[in-house]
Amino acid sequence: MKVAFLTSECFPYVKTGGLGDVAGALPKALYQSGCEVKVFLPLYGGIKVQDHGIKRIDEFSNISVHLAGKDLNFSVFHTTLPGAEVEVYFIDCPYYYHRNLPYTNDSDEDERFLLFQNASLMTLQRLKWAPDVIHCNDWQTGLIPVYLKTNYAWDRLFGESRSLLSIHNIGYQGRFPESTVAKSGLDRNLYLNAGPLEFHSTFSFLKSGIMYADKISTVSPTYAREIQTEEYGAGMDGVLRSRSNDLIGILNGIDIDLWNPAKDKFIKSQYTAETLEMKEENKKNLLERVNIEYAENQPVLGIVSRLAGQKGINLLQPIINHIMSLPVRFVVLGSGEEQYEQFLSAAESSFEGRFCAYLGYNNELSHLITAGADIFLMPSRYEPCGLNQMYSLRYGTVPVVRKTGGLADTVMDYHEYYEKGNGFSFNEYSSAALLSTIQRAVDIYYQKIYGAGYNAAEC
Ligand code: ADP
Repeated sequence: MKVAFLTSECFPYVKTGGLGDVAGALPKALYQSGCEVKVFLPLYGGIKVQDHGIKRIDEFSNISVHLAGKDLNFSVFHTTLPGAEVEVYFIDCPYYYHRNLPYTNDSDEDERFLLFQNASLMTLQRLKWAPDVIHCNDWQTGLIPVYLKTNYAWDRLFGESRSLLSIHNIGYQGRFPESTVAKSGLDRNLYLNAGPLEFHSTFSFLKSGIMYADKISTVSPTYAREIQTEEYGAGMDGVLRSRSNDLIGILNGIDIDLWNPAKDKFIKSQYTAETLEMKEENKKNLLERVNIEYAENQPVLGIVSRLAGQKGINLLQPIINHIMSLPVRFVVLGSGEEQYEQFLSAAESSFEGRFCAYLGYNNELSHLITAGADIFLMPSRYEPCGLNQMYSLRYGTVPVVRKTGGLADTVMDYHEYYEKGNGFSFNEYSSAALLSTIQRAVDIYYQKIYGAGYNAAEC
């Protein structure tokens, strides 16, 4: 089967969150199961072209396209994904992509991804390569299913192609003003009179994709159910229910070449389930790295997260004193909204030497935390799939999660009596529920060392 995989991020070239991981891992897994896969993504200014052997394709240089009332040019660069014969094509247009970050709030954000989508289809035409499946991901590629059935429907190359739209987070909907319709080159009638492109008086690339894709997937079975409800649908629940026969939840996988404690090149001591005691060396190394003094037999709590409202960081605020009154250390790696960054910095000052807030993006440190922490926290308000709890499980680091989306599908709450479960979870989105679950995890950590009956809160 031939699969074209269109994405706005892909590890190891560019990653801001889980989509980057999946876009690096899934094409590789498809290739290993016999598919021919080509990945398409924008050539952002931050991508290190030389490090990844990315080269311009001479025949695909300075291709003209008229879009958004502008005469534009793009070129196509190419490399292959590490460890697999997956071709990766980069759409180069410095005018749009040489900016500080992959996603912006600039007024031409719509144009940046209109160009990407049209240029990707035009590149497929020039390659004369007819995909069986065009796999679109999130709003940045949401118009591809529309284009295939309208502006590009004349091209027999795509005659047998079917589109799949994967929703990695329903909270990001690519909503633009009505004027974007003209820029897209799509028929205005598709927008007018509550047409398929229209969503609450805006042009939503995601809604358009949901209406036109042949199939829709999302990244866990629970999230597939949740997004069809008012509580979790972010306003798209009705649209999704109208396509429920074509919507499926498939749990993300993880790349065990990259996330594997037996061969992780970032961590101090590699280990397996049989040599779990080696985790202690990684804990010491992590704490040394973040200037926290190691304390024998004290558990380390860890977080690696985008600092966005969705992630439940606000739940920590009222209980941070209580958590830090327990015999624990705490390491947080994250970046994002200022309110959460400020709270974490303040906590670092208050609990100097026991709490570290590393504000920024750091891939290496994310591996050190995954291996060195004992307990990994993900108190998300919603979580489409979540990868960090799966990485933690792979590294013998016990996840504490809120039971939502993919967290509910992967973490089974530990039952003391039956000694079953692989982590700890709670239902209610509240600080109290999070605190009691952390306490439970910490108590059980200590009981494994000092025997039943030990209560960390009282020590
Ligand atoms: P989301 O896609 O909502 O951000 P996921 O759990 O699906 O959440 O994926 C997050 C990915 O991004 C993980 O690979 C995680 O390790 C990584 N990540 C998030 N924040 C950081 C950071 N500050 N530094 C390094 N990696 C990060």
